[in-house]
Amino acid sequence: MLRLSKVPDAHINNPQNIMKSFEAVKLYFNRAADELELTENMRTLLLTPKREVQVQIAVEMDNGDLQTLIGYRVQHDNARGPMKGGLRFHPEVDLDEVRSLASLMTWKTAVVNIPYGGAKGGIAVDVRGLSVGELERITRKFVDEIHDVIGPDTDIPAPDMGTSAEVMAWIMNQHNKYHGFNPGVVTGKPVEHYGIPGREEATGRGVGILAFKTLSRLGRKPHETRVALQGFGNVGSHAAKFLSEADCKVVGISDISGGYYNPDGINVLEAIRYVNKHERSLEGFPSAEKISNEELLELDVELLIPAALGGVITADNAQRIKAPLIIEAANAPVRPDADDLLHDRGVVIVPDILANAGGVTVSYFEWVQNRQYYQWNLDRVRQELDRVISAAFEEVWDLSHQRNISLRTAAFMLGIGRVGRATVLGGIT
Ligand code: NAD
Repeated sequence: MLRLSKVPDAHINNPQNIMKSFEAVKLYFNRAADELELTENMRTLLLTPKREVQVQIAVEMDNGDLQTLIGYRVQHDNARGPMKGGLRFHPEVDLDEVRSLASLMTWKTAVVNIPYGGAKGGIAVDVRGLSVGELERITRKFVDEIHDVIGPDTDIPAPDMGTSAEVMAWIMNQHNKYHGFNPGVVTGKPVEHYGIPGREEATGRGVGILAFKTLSRLGRKPHETRVALQGFGNVGSHAAKFLSEADCKVVGISDISGGYYNPDGINVLEAIRYVNKHERSLEGFPSAEKISNEELLELDVELLIPAALGGVITADNAQRIKAPLIIEAANAPVRPDADDLLHDRGVVIVPDILANAGGVTVSYFEWVQNRQYYQWNLDRVRQELDRVISAAFEEVWDLSHQRNISLRTAAFMLGIGRVGRATVLGGIT
């Protein structure tokens, strides 16, 4: 029997959101727009999302309680192609965060020049307490509410925090019940169920490729490069593996349980085996000194890779960051005030819209594969990913040096310039 219970407090305030997410994106957008000399009217057009959808998701929990959740899908821009972006299931999801992440997706797909626009979605829910059945019911109910506005030619969701390949398979199945068979409605599906090999490693691999390229431009040799990574999940562990195989010395890793430091180098494969055996946690990892996540960010290293949360590098700790190179594997790990301080000190930051674009790039290959009904192999995926990411890096690097601007402003300029041209070419009114 269905029992009615209190609506959960889904909107926990995120103390890190001192500057609201969308404000931070606008600030970076405007810096690039100034360089591009965009008119105010064009700025408003490019910043305004096409559509914002908020839906009620009422589900019966295993204990018979009724829960009412809020789901969002923000479709920011489709001038360059169908909109694309992840689905985040997390208690701190709110409209402002989804809106900022949707617009970041527009610039990200444009920077790497894949034929997509940007979108993002999410549900304010803590997945940790959910059974598999509850997660599946919530996912299917969400699709019931938004199936008409997503689709392989309109808006293609993908996994993000709190969602997985299994969740994507449910989305495909539920959407197909309404609109007929079409695996291209969602990406990040299980490899054996219309997914693509290499999707899981793609973001970390992209981070690794970019680290390698930037180090080479800065005249640094991999074997003389000490690396610290915050976050040892999908992105952090794959980036660490790539870099250690490429001869860099990974001296610090961390996850929610804390940081682990070994100046002689951490055996990354041993750490991956450890988390696989210990419920994805580094807690108790031997052969390293235990430090805090704050200390990890401030280690004496040549390369720092924040690959966990947004907003971890702030005006408070920016002066203590020793790494001369930061690759933003997570979305928005460096707050705008810290970005300015670090830039003034000559710290090179490879911005998120380029740094973590490997995932959406391989998602694009999955969608192409689904539309071709043809399975790509891992070699082809890696080769094409390397090509796309390397080309984007060269363009961003060159523009930043031609104009004497940060890599972030250069990446935003490239992205905004492409979206602006497509908007004008397609006809605005
Ligand atoms: P994940 O859930 O696989 O791993 C997250 C890691 O961060 C875990 O090791 C977790 O323990 C750690 N972590 C969580 N809270 C922490 C804290 N307070 N301090 C330190 N570590 C903490 O996630 P992921 O897929 O690796 O994504 C990491 C980041 O990269 C996210 O910001 C995500 O939005 C971004 N990103 C991921 C992809 C992708 O393809 N997976 C693509 C683009 C951007």
